Amino acid sequence: MDYRKKLFSVKNPYDTEGTKELFLKAVKENCAFHYKNCLEYRKILDSRDFSPDDLRSYEDIARLPFLPTVFLKSHRIFSMPESKMLIKATSSGTSGKYSKVGFDLGSLTSGLKMLIRVAKPRKLISPRPANYIIFGYKPHKGNETAIAKTATGYTFFTPALSRTYALKFGRNGYEHDLEGVIKAIVKHSKSKSPLRFIGFPAYTYFTLKMMDERGIHVKLPRHSMIMLGGGWKQFYKEQVDKQSMYDLVYKVLGIGEESVVESFGAAEHPILYCDCEKHHFHIPVYSRVIIRDVNTLEPVPDGQVGLVNLITPMVRATPVLSVMTDDLGVIHSEDCGCGNKSPYLEIIGRVGLKDIKTCAAGAAELISEAKK
Ligand SMILES: [Zn+2]
Repeated sequence: MDYRKKLFSVKNPYDTEGTKELFLKAVKENCAFHYKNCLEYRKILDSRDFSPDDLRSYEDIARLPFLPTVFLKSHRIFSMPESKMLIKATSSGTSGKYSKVGFDLGSLTSGLKMLIRVAKPRKLISPRPANYIIFGYKPHKGNETAIAKTATGYTFFTPALSRTYALKFGRNGYEHDLEGVIKAIVKHSKSKSPLRFIGFPAYTYFTLKMMDERGIHVKLPRHSMIMLGGGWKQFYKEQVDKQSMYDLVYKVLGIGEESVVESFGAAEHPILYCDCEKHHFHIPVYSRVIIRDVNTLEPVPDGQVGLVNLITPMVRATPVLSVMTDDLGVIHSEDCGCGNKSPYLEIIGRVGLKDIKTCAAGAAELISEAKK
């Protein structure tokens, strides 16, 4: 039985309550696959005295050993020969260290179904052709980052008439071309076709601020849209207050906050989290999030801040079933008011230096165990 396929075929992407049993089965199936095919993963589970058969109830998922993202950044571990992976994506490591996650065919078809279901309520997919402004990297050979791939991938939600990139690969590596972007915005604002923005919130904000300071205010065509995303890191580091972003978008581009859609994902956890109309990130059926105490790593109740542990049975090529980030977050289980029933995740920031050391120590322990 392919439980992953079943899970990714669920109609309502926010029915986490009704899919508990199915999620558990898919996790168990994925865990058994990695246990069988990835020696390092098996060693980690063995050292924790955990076997895939220990996943008997939904609550057991919290006991499943996780891999810290720090560990994935320093280790290349796969559960399939690399020749079987259709795509390899890397995280955007600024320190030179990055994770490399391979994707098998099943994870890609699952991902595609997820994309369609999650993007639909926010009207991201449309047959209406659009021009695109991409606040991200123009892909070039050698750039395998998940962000570069995702950004360009988003331009396939509608037929693309044009793509203007804010970051281009020049003689000195990637260079900004915000002047070119502003010119393109002004030009496309006069078009009949909608204009879509994709990319890092900080760049989007910075460009709009520049336009505002120069007194360049336009009215974008109907159905234009701002899609903010680009991974967790950019998501909170810049700390642009959401409301001031919406106000600026309205002032400079003449479109309301209902046209601003935010999303995030990570190379180590390729699940698409898309905000609802109230701008909350509901947890989709494809994943579960456990918030853990920074010191004890035990799960904490909803509403309490802790380390974000992300779980998805989506990928077979790489054992990213349960990954521990160094992000701090909180789960809200109160009703959002948008109609989505699942709880929503708020990322608060990143753990402090002292706590990172705790994570790093945990990773070091895992590494030594994996090498045994
Ligand atoms: Zn909501």
